[in-house]
Amino acid sequence: MTQPNRITPSELPRADFASIPRYSAGADAEIDLSDNTNQWGAPPAAAAVLRQALEISRYPDMYGDSLKRTVAKMTGLGPERVVTGNGSDDVLDCVIRAFAAPGDTVAHPDPTFVMVPVFSRINGITPVPVPLAADFSMDADALLATNARIIYLCSPNNPTATPTSVDTIRHVIANARGLVLIDEAYAEFTGLEGFLAEAPALERVVVCRTLSKAYGLAGLRVGYATASAKIIEIIEKSRGPFKLNMMAERAAVEALTTDAEWVAARVRDAVASRDRLAGALSAIGLTPLPSVANFLLVPTSKAFALAAAVREKGIAIRPFRGLTGIGDAFRITAGPWPVMERVLAALADAQRSAA
Ligand SMILES: *Cc1c(COP(=O)(O)O)cnc(C)c1O
Repeated sequence: MTQPNRITPSELPRADFASIPRYSAGADAEIDLSDNTNQWGAPPAAAAVLRQALEISRYPDMYGDSLKRTVAKMTGLGPERVVTGNGSDDVLDCVIRAFAAPGDTVAHPDPTFVMVPVFSRINGITPVPVPLAADFSMDADALLATNARIIYLCSPNNPTATPTSVDTIRHVIANARGLVLIDEAYAEFTGLEGFLAEAPALERVVVCRTLSKAYGLAGLRVGYATASAKIIEIIEKSRGPFKLNMMAERAAVEALTTDAEWVAARVRDAVASRDRLAGALSAIGLTPLPSVANFLLVPTSKAFALAAAVREKGIAIRPFRGLTGIGDAFRITAGPWPVMERVLAALADAQRSAA
């Protein structure tokens, strides 16, 4: 017997999901400079460990225990102060869900990492965008003025690549009403320590890192965060067990240990390439924002035309429409110089024909 109040198929989804976008970007291009991954490839010991036999009929560590121990050793913290995830995306999602209830707010810089407002909304939480300051740093007082349950900080910020001073971040931590979630996806490129080791002592701070950018393992999906043991326990409730697969966990441990020198050398390569690329872009009339990450944001009204022109040569860069306080812009990942020469030639051509 059919129930009288049966909902129609079109009404099956949660009503607020209609306006939540399904993420799609990137390109399937021969050369992908759109997503800030390691353009020199994957670290060798991590790649080698994937070829070893694994007992994949068994479940992996429940909470990524060997990775937790590795991060603990790196930072001088205990493993009870580390949480792992299926990419730092997963960690961000789990933190937002655990520390803000439906109807609460998450304040974030605008522009910033596009998934943060999306994860907020998926969890029924209201994102509150806060424009960057005039120098493209995060606006601490404006973020604090939101009185949000969670303040998300991205340092260096994506997509701008710009830094925010340690003092500004400390000011937010000292005055925040609730949790401060610091995304340090590009910390390795800054030459600064960041807040990874300090997070637990700060009591209301979670610091997220990823193996997808400097560490060259985007395809394996590994992220982690540090915080006080109390906060980690809550995040792990939200995360649930078995999020990190056996292969990803093993490779991540190798990347952070055996491959540390390889990664450090590639970070130096990326920084050198980025600075050289910034100079070469200026020479063809483009003006990137100052960067402390492995990519550049280049404001230009021709962002979409330039991205399309470069795409024809098999290279993907990432155009953005109407970024707050910036306008249209493209983002480009620094890679080996021969690749940069190819993209520069394509950009210079397109600049000339658009002029
Ligand atoms: C790339 C990126 C992430 C996501 O990293 P995954 O570990 O691949 O999920 C998180 N935050 C920022 C700012 C990023 O740029």
